[in-house]
Amino acid sequence: MKEVINFIKNNVVDKIIIRDIRVYGWQLEYDHKIVSSAAKYLFEDLSFNENIVEVNDDNRPGIVKPNRYVTVHDTGDASHLHTAKFWSEAVYNRSWEQSPGDVVKYLCSYQYVVDNEGIYHNVPDNEVAYHAGDGTKFDYTLYKTNVIDDGKKGIVSISSDGYYEINNQVTNIKAPRVYQEKNGEVIVDRIPTTSDINDQSILCKVVDGYYHLGETYYSPGYKKIANRGGNNNSIGIESCITYGTDIYYTWQKTAKLVAYLLDENNLTIDDVKQHHYFSGKNCPQTIRMNGFWDHFLELVKVELQMRLFIKNGYSFKLMTNDSRISFNGRIKLTEGNKPLSFMIEVSKGEEKETIEFNVSL
Ligand SMILES: [Zn+2]
Repeated sequence: MKEVINFIKNNVVDKIIIRDIRVYGWQLEYDHKIVSSAAKYLFEDLSFNENIVEVNDDNRPGIVKPNRYVTVHDTGDASHLHTAKFWSEAVYNRSWEQSPGDVVKYLCSYQYVVDNEGIYHNVPDNEVAYHAGDGTKFDYTLYKTNVIDDGKKGIVSISSDGYYEINNQVTNIKAPRVYQEKNGEVIVDRIPTTSDINDQSILCKVVDGYYHLGETYYSPGYKKIANRGGNNNSIGIESCITYGTDIYYTWQKTAKLVAYLLDENNLTIDDVKQHHYFSGKNCPQTIRMNGFWDHFLELVKVELQMRLFIKNGYSFKLMTNDSRISFNGRIKLTEGNKPLSFMIEVSKGEEKETIEFNVSL
């Protein structure tokens, strides 16, 4: 019990973040006030709206895959009509109505799509879906390098002659060439540099005392060197940025879903990747542009740890008389400068303990 109480005191309740952010949709951008929750744990059960599309040639090939990652996206779609349900239906029907009467085919797919209203499940977790932009030609592969593990996390860069370096030691593996064509003409063809690497870096793992690198490619569309394994080896989640919704609540629901998927698939926090990692695309754009990725990962870590406590028989309840807080922890109003007042009740069998919090706004 003591360990759980300490974890909650030290990791679950923190300062309230209140910040104006910009939300990026392809139709419109808008300003939005982010107000974080009373806790980094969302006091809500996970539930799924099963809406599995049948196996088809467009967006569910029915190919079974191993899961090595969870890929986080946002829809980049701010239209107030384009909810999680809408995009789930688009996957299910393999089409969507772009404008009244203009129905277009939809070849994208993802395992899940999330907004305030719920989590929709569209493709079985162990099957390929088309969301990461990295194709399906390459299986997850680790290439052994000549660089011996020095006990540190491998930081990947590129040498002046175009080879990958790990912790400044040149490897025997060539980085993909930067190559772009326009109207059939080659416009760029050069040796890559470190700045061509996507900002989540390159897969680098130690196996049997040697650093290994994953399969990489140059994405001419996004002008970055990216990793393979997005479509073939990950579970894709779209988080909605729909105008008029509570964006932070969607992030928390998404974090809870990610924690569940990590747990179910024996993955770790390092296996949570942005879409950007697999293609160089600026996605999830709103989280990236507003600097919320590390915070999002913190939410996932807390959800994961709380999930493990729950598996060990603990249960958690948020209790409050403060009308500004919902029982799931969302803060509804920030008016007034009185501290937020609430309690978290932890119980296991007969044992019960309550922690009181007064958090200033
Ligand atoms: Zn994406």
